[in-house]
Amino acid sequence: MKVWVVLFLLIAMNASASLKPEALQRTKKDWPQRSRYEISVELDPISRSYHGHQKVNFLNRQKRSTNYAIFFLYPNDPGLTKSQKEFMKVSNISVNASDAKVDQKGPYLRIDLGQELQTGKSVVIDMDFEATLPEQKQSADLFSEAMDELKQMLDPKSAAQNDYGVFSSGKDIVNLGLWYPILSKYDADGWDEEKYSGIGDVSYFDPADFHVTVTVPADYKTVTTGTQITESPLKDGRMQRVIDAPLVRDFEIELSRTFEQVTRLINGTTLQAFYLPQHATSGASTMNSAAQAFEYYSKIFGPYPYSELDIVEAPLFGGAGGVEFPGLVTISSMLYNDDQQKTDDDPVHQALANNPVFSQMLEFVVAHEVAHQWWNATVGSNSKKYPFIDEAMANYSAVLYFEHYYGKKAAEQQMAMQMKLNYQMHRMLGGQDKPVNLPASSFQGSLEYAAIVYGKGALFFDRLRTVMGDAPFFAAWKNYYDAYWFRTASPDSFKEIAEKKTPGKSKVIEATYQRWMNQMHADEDIGPGTLDAVMKTVLSTNQNIPQDKLDDLLKELNSVLDQN
Ligand SMILES: [Zn+2]
Repeated sequence: MKVWVVLFLLIAMNASASLKPEALQRTKKDWPQRSRYEISVELDPISRSYHGHQKVNFLNRQKRSTNYAIFFLYPNDPGLTKSQKEFMKVSNISVNASDAKVDQKGPYLRIDLGQELQTGKSVVIDMDFEATLPEQKQSADLFSEAMDELKQMLDPKSAAQNDYGVFSSGKDIVNLGLWYPILSKYDADGWDEEKYSGIGDVSYFDPADFHVTVTVPADYKTVTTGTQITESPLKDGRMQRVIDAPLVRDFEIELSRTFEQVTRLINGTTLQAFYLPQHATSGASTMNSAAQAFEYYSKIFGPYPYSELDIVEAPLFGGAGGVEFPGLVTISSMLYNDDQQKTDDDPVHQALANNPVFSQMLEFVVAHEVAHQWWNATVGSNSKKYPFIDEAMANYSAVLYFEHYYGKKAAEQQMAMQMKLNYQMHRMLGGQDKPVNLPASSFQGSLEYAAIVYGKGALFFDRLRTVMGDAPFFAAWKNYYDAYWFRTASPDSFKEIAEKKTPGKSKVIEATYQRWMNQMHADEDIGPGTLDAVMKTVLSTNQNIPQDKLDDLLKELNSVLDQN
């Protein structure tokens, strides 16, 4: 009996290894049962390939039954890879150990369950998978990415052709995002079968438990969602690592032979920053920014649920400064510019590197991505239908971060450069104002998406703060986090809580919400898109930039505009 009890305790401890005690306590009430993935994968970074097996225990938590399940094979989604090539194959698919009838087309995998799965019941779906990773040809450097961006702004259609690099293999780092067959979201409306448009985040998934065994060459570091439980060397020179990740919406892996690492413990959570050796200065600064963001957000939004948070350098492109996953955020290599400042003496490169917009970009992106642990990893929202819900909140969270640590003026500078300017540049280049509350697929390219969702959407929260007053505004963020903890927020969820916090102001809150979310008054509310107005926005924040550097930037901008 005693052995049995000890074993049981061990299993119980393992299952909760990466949830903090208070979060574990709450799951007993809010999420007593959830779907579970058991995945074993063997990765070969040299041939950029992997294969493995996954067993998914799918639990139907909805009030309606279903007789099929949808998995997304994102490596086969041209929206993600910007390639017509299918990078993943699945085989030997079974449901409750019997061969299953399946229908696969590109990224869609529909599996017949052979029965009507009722509320509260579960099935076990097994499959083998094998895949290759697309190789990255680009090398990330801030200047060429910025110029590429500028050129794409002038040709919005081309921007939708950009691969963010989320699922790809670079020279020093392998990005394994969305790499396994992922159970789509099953909610009150049925299965989410909506196609990924290629702009923004792919989707959102229900929290599930992951138990993942990763086998890699022993000299590769493995950084993942969740917490590593064991590590065992194999006879063939490879290393097998077992990772547990309870209550996560997705499972990310980053691989590198050369990652260096710094670690810090805050409020019972271990923060780890990983970066390439040539980026030690930037890498250390990502830890400082992440630690500051983590402490402040924990205080003003509520406690972070997991016992680990990784901040990982990753080669990303197409205007992606970072991409968020549960318990792990990736930050684009192009923002780690240690070498650029030292070795490059091109005056325009120098002007860019020394410009506050660029020098604070890394800190802003880290603050934004860490905020996604609250607004995306914990509070879920549909990224395809309502991308503003988590993106506008993560962007305004980064503004709150700058205000808290560097004062009101610094926060205003960030709003001007990261939000106002997006909108004004978009207008200057001929783009239109649009409602914020639109699906990602209705935005024409990355500048329009940045202008409306990240710019206008985030500035809505600043306007709402003025309307509500600070105390009820901050109380609303805390209340919203608590109310939607591992649930799914709708576009109206925050507004409804804001109205409750300030009952006398519900009419003006509703009017403000309609004006910013569903109407087009941003020229008036944010600023027009004339070159004069754009320059005013830039100058309002950059009194310290020498005039000649500003002239260089303007010249560069004008020459790109002329080429059009
Ligand atoms: Zn974001």
